[in-house]
Amino acid sequence: MRDSVVATIGLGANLGDAAATVQVAIASIGALAQTQLLRASSLYRSAPVDSSGPDYVNAVVQVRTALSAPALLATLQTIELAAGRERPYRNAPRTLDLDLLLYGDAHISSPALTVPHPRMQQRAFVLLPLAEIAPQLVSAAALHAVRGQRVQR
Ligand code: ADP
Ligand code: MG
Repeated sequence: MRDSVVATIGLGANLGDAAATVQVAIASIGALAQTQLLRASSLYRSAPVDSSGPDYVNAVVQVRTALSAPALLATLQTIELAAGRERPYRNAPRTLDLDLLLYGDAHISSPALTVPHPRMQQRAFVLLPLAEIAPQLVSAAALHAVRGQRVQR
């Protein structure tokens, strides 16, 4: 792919059949135009952080994409909507949450998009699956800092 970038995407779901939702979302990401799925982590289970409801199912994937970062985020949001996501209030339980964690080594700070994702370093449910598929991107210190959070593969 010409002018392509490796992007890292975090997935989370905690309503309905969350594991099935995450698996369908991974397939949908792999089917995006100008985008190729490189790696997908196992599914993890985590207790809600700053949120409520049942445990989350989480995963992280890496893609190679020719989409721009805003275009990729927009397409991820269409996948969220297709999964029936509603946004009644911030951090509400959700059928599907897709976060653009990294876009190559880009640093982006706009109202609609911040990359690297500002909270990824504090979240074991991001760092553990990310360490599974891209260990070079996760430091031992970062993993140590989130050791208290319950996340199970
Ligand atoms: P969160 O994922 O923080 O729990 P939401 O998914 O409800 O909360 O937040 C979505 C909003 O966050 C979107 O309007 C989107 O524009 C914005 N946003 C900013 N940076 C990112 C990013 N890196 N990935 C996904 N959404 C982002
Ligand atoms: Mg989100």
